[in-house]
Amino acid sequence: MRIEYDRDTCIGMFQCVAEWDGFERDEDAGKAMLVDGEKREEDLFVRDVPADAELDAKFAARACPVDAIAVYDDDGERLIP
Ligand code: SF4
Repeated sequence: MRIEYDRDTCIGMFQCVAEWDGFERDEDAGKAMLVDGEKREEDLFVRDVPADAELDAKFAARACPVDAIAVYDDDGERLIP
């Protein structure tokens, strides 16, 4: 499973941080930070999600009020949102 985080869309509500420790608070920026995220383009970060974290990562994506977090399965199909 793969997660994509759109930092530009993020409004810093931090619900994702409460759901999964793959997200941390960047208080200075007022944004979330995707831990170990690889910068694919400006403000777009991606990383693989280990199997034992998939449920929490999905909760984090669903909790985001502005859909800044997208989840894809291993075939590249978008699961959330
Ligand atoms: S829940 Fe969404 S808006 Fe809130 S910090 Fe996480 S990514 Fe940003």
